[in-house]
Amino acid sequence: MPLLNTFIFSALLVCMLFNVSNSLYFHIGETERKCFIEEIPDETNVIVNYKVELYDPRSGGFMPSSPGIGMHVEVRDPDDKTLLSRVYSSEGKISFTSHTPGEHVICMYSNSSAWFSGSQLRVHLDIQVGEHAVNYGEVVQKEKLSELQLRVRQLLDQVEQITKEQNYQRSLPHEGIEQFLTPVGFQGLLALIGTNGQGVGTSAISQWVTRTSDLAITDEERAVLDKFIDKLYEDMDSHSGNFLNNEGVALFTLQSACNHSCIPNAEPTYLHNNNKLSLVAVRDIQEGEEICISYLDECNLQRSRHSRRKELMENYLFACNCIKCEEQACDPDVTSEEEEEEDEDMSE
Ligand SMILES: [Zn+2]
Repeated sequence: MPLLNTFIFSALLVCMLFNVSNSLYFHIGETERKCFIEEIPDETNVIVNYKVELYDPRSGGFMPSSPGIGMHVEVRDPDDKTLLSRVYSSEGKISFTSHTPGEHVICMYSNSSAWFSGSQLRVHLDIQVGEHAVNYGEVVQKEKLSELQLRVRQLLDQVEQITKEQNYQRSLPHEGIEQFLTPVGFQGLLALIGTNGQGVGTSAISQWVTRTSDLAITDEERAVLDKFIDKLYEDMDSHSGNFLNNEGVALFTLQSACNHSCIPNAEPTYLHNNNKLSLVAVRDIQEGEEICISYLDECNLQRSRHSRRKELMENYLFACNCIKCEEQACDPDVTSEEEEEEDEDMSE
């Protein structure tokens, strides 16, 4: 896996986190400026919701900040033209519309004053792009839409947004493709997909499976459903094999750059069940800390050090020396129970 400079890396992760709702926050010091890059197609609505909290040295936690605390927000379009630049209060909603497709830079910094004398602010951020930025509650009231009309409207907005995104993707330069169009290049491409590819579709199904646990159903119905789910995974396995129990494999530039850890701090997921992969933090991430994901599925991740490292060596050709593997270095090289069972099955 390519290693990236950790600093650039955390900045990149923040970009990817833009698809996440409510879970992103960052710390900012006095007069410090933090910028985020978001790729936005043209004529797209963007809403940025934020809330500032002030570090409380007495409790060691963060408390709601006083309304006097202001955040200067600046948005620049791909031509470096300022779309927006003004001071907002400690909590607010900023909205703007893009007119040029490409990378937009959103910068935030606190209004410098003595009110937090060298201590830190925590800024919660939620950025919504495209049809996610439409307040349909307002639309229904204003245009008196029925439930059905509203659904149709949302669907049309979604289609329009997908078209905009596709047009934007098509407009990007695609140089470099030629290198893969030779026998050697194609081999290289397969190797690249083998080690860096991210399964597409698995997450959508697993999300659905996870959500079935919220269903209010009887024990009998639950048993039927569980049986159906088991069969579904079994069928997927028989069609695409154990490693690729999904609808396809795709390469994502940023996610490919993420190293593995047996105690990852982020996980890749398809939040909107479309082609957009998001990295979601699974715990707080310190500034400068490397973003790591797990190359192992949940079951394998719970296995012994020996089993995890064997799986990683076989599929990804490296010996894992993550913190967890280091900590367990003195563990005997035993295979986990599950693996022993498998070995027994095979020898029978
Ligand atoms: Zn490890």
